[in-house]
Amino acid sequence: MTAEKTERTGAEEIAWDLSDLYAGVDDPYIEQDIATTDARAAEFAERYRGQMTALSPEAFYEAIVAYEELTESAYKLGSFAHLLWSTDTGNPQYGALLQRITEWSARLQQQLLFFELEWINAPDDFAQSMIEHPTLVHYRHWLEVTRRYKPHRLSEPEEKILAEKAVTGRDAWVRFFTELMGNTRYPFDGEELTQSAILAKLHEPDRQVRQRAAQAFTDVLQEKLPILSYVFNTLAADKASDDRLRHYPSWISSRNLANEVSDEVVDALVQAVTSRYDIVARYYALKRRLLGVEKLYDYDRYAPLPAAEGRYQWEDARELVLGAYGQFHPQMAEIAGQFFERSWIDAAPRPGKRGGAYSASTVPSAHPYVFMNYTGQARDVMTLAHELGHGIHQYLSREQGILQAHTPLTTAEMASTFGEMLVFTDFMAREDDPRVRLAMLAGKIEDTFATVFRQISMNRFEHAMHTARRQEGELPPDRFGELWMQTQEAMFQGSVELTDNYRIWWSYIPHFLHTPGYVYAYAFGELLVLALFARYRKQGEGFAERYLDVLRAGGSDWPQNVLAPMGVDLTDLSFWQEGLGEIEALVSQAEELAQTTA
Ligand SMILES: [Zn+2]
Repeated sequence: MTAEKTERTGAEEIAWDLSDLYAGVDDPYIEQDIATTDARAAEFAERYRGQMTALSPEAFYEAIVAYEELTESAYKLGSFAHLLWSTDTGNPQYGALLQRITEWSARLQQQLLFFELEWINAPDDFAQSMIEHPTLVHYRHWLEVTRRYKPHRLSEPEEKILAEKAVTGRDAWVRFFTELMGNTRYPFDGEELTQSAILAKLHEPDRQVRQRAAQAFTDVLQEKLPILSYVFNTLAADKASDDRLRHYPSWISSRNLANEVSDEVVDALVQAVTSRYDIVARYYALKRRLLGVEKLYDYDRYAPLPAAEGRYQWEDARELVLGAYGQFHPQMAEIAGQFFERSWIDAAPRPGKRGGAYSASTVPSAHPYVFMNYTGQARDVMTLAHELGHGIHQYLSREQGILQAHTPLTTAEMASTFGEMLVFTDFMAREDDPRVRLAMLAGKIEDTFATVFRQISMNRFEHAMHTARRQEGELPPDRFGELWMQTQEAMFQGSVELTDNYRIWWSYIPHFLHTPGYVYAYAFGELLVLALFARYRKQGEGFAERYLDVLRAGGSDWPQNVLAPMGVDLTDLSFWQEGLGEIEALVSQAEELAQTTA
């Protein structure tokens, strides 16, 4: 174990060079940029506050450009401070800079807030004339998107009261739940485990360990069930009154608006996924055979398949990712190549460096940076592929400017997941040990299930819960359990034996409370990519050019318009079926491999 840990991967020296943002924590340009931005923000407010409806389209354009420049300055400072801090969270100088910039940019935001608010509150005829004016065509989507909440906004004093009362209302309940669950410990083999540690036991090869972990987890949840049900009830009721006051037709409408998709698109997605639950049943039937058990219980779902896993040097990872990207389109490899050559990646694991991985878009006048902790596992190679997918997307969409480069949640994971698919396919083609291939495939299938089927079955639970809460009033704990089991049994179709313990496993899932309606966005992104991948295989080369155009468009238009050149119709059930067909193909491939390894 220790020998493996100290084994070098070549990533130990891979550190990024942030000097395209600032030279270092002491760079005098930091203070200078803060001062300049403050002065320009004051000027901006002086000049434009209360003036919007008096502006000509040309003057309005100028105002947006100035606003965008101020936003970019704040992002540049914020990105630098955050990136620097990520590499050494224990460095007090870095921490102080991050805190300083965070507080400064919050004040800046307050100062500039009037601009978006005046735009949201502008009369419809004025707004429409601006949105349609050719001078403002570049900013059209930003103008539209910023105004989309107008029908749901209340008067200024009402908004103020709601915002203030939310602190001790909704926000307080969410925080209570988070702290309660964060502080809860689960007794296991004489130890007091955290939630993530006890749930990690469900991935253990020893079935007994998995079963006991599931029991230990359930026992503690059971004790807390009255409190948890009360929190769920309260937040569901709070959401119901919020939706009523803000005139949202259904519990999911506000989320769809945030995601820039229509209720119809989300309905089509949900319908498509729930109609293919047979794929879930087929896979778990295979997994049951592979594990050699008579019945597959809920605590067996994450059991690993036995296979030797290789280790990958940093150079191998680089070659794998660039190779797969280059095969797709030379420009992909060219852009990704710059990340390596120009030190835009920080991959070395170091003491004090935060965990996880991300790609930071920073600002259009610079370029994105990729952050990760490379240890040589196969999943690190996939993480590199994932983050470089984001990186290429962010790099290409810089041309839209900072106000329109970012995509909504639904398409935010498109390039990363697509990049992973490219590398995974290539990876599989290079591996010839059928047992390793089967294990890799099973891993991929289970990841895909987690983002597609599980999230949609959770969306069905949320739907049932919010609907029941609105129709039946306060729900007893067992009513939640009933709705949970119905929506989960519908997905497993008998392929997994759900124990009685599983009845309360809805009660710890934070997404339901933090961000109601959020979960379907994962399925949206994943299926979108799988469907695009299916088209890529059918269409060949022209596809890659169009795909790069989609990435370039960033968040400059509604997702359905951005995707239209790919011949994608998100309201069309058959489009989503294509993505599901890809998952089915992965399951078929696993079934075939299982026969050769048997
Ligand atoms: Zn991602």
